[in-house]
Amino acid sequence: MNFKGHITGGIITGAAITSTAIFLSKPLGIPAPPLVLGQIFGVALFFSMFPDLDISSIPQRWFFRAIFAVLLGLSYYDYFEVATLVALVSITPLLDHHRSWTHNVISVLLFPVVLACIYEYLLSKERFFDQWSADQVANHLSNHIWLVIACVSGWYTHLTLDFYQKKRFARN
Ligand SMILES: [Zn+2]
Repeated sequence: MNFKGHITGGIITGAAITSTAIFLSKPLGIPAPPLVLGQIFGVALFFSMFPDLDISSIPQRWFFRAIFAVLLGLSYYDYFEVATLVALVSITPLLDHHRSWTHNVISVLLFPVVLACIYEYLLSKERFFDQWSADQVANHLSNHIWLVIACVSGWYTHLTLDFYQKKRFARN
């Protein structure tokens, strides 16, 4: 599937998860204020394209230009923990060949957990007398549960579109 197809898939999934958050945040008791709604949409869209950043392309170049701008902004406003996470996440697709770990169904589930572990590590370094704790990792995940859902849904949208396109090619 090309980037246009994945962007369309990401917009549809992003809109679906954002509407789910709007309608279910109250009944489920998981708040989703307007800023978080924007983040949900952005994260779903981002992760629907993320797996194909492992291959050199024009969208990839634009992606790294955008990341460069985001990192500059985050450093300027002293959001160093978030900047570190963004930098780590954006490099990961380049660690292996095309369609390797980014196209694996298990990586999708492990990724948010690994990120929460790193985030907790960065925060724990700044706390006095307080060490890295698995409970805190679980807290980060549950405090950002809509973003975790957005990440996993966007990423699975990508894998599903790739899967059906492969099947269609195999049939022809
Ligand atoms: Zn792909």
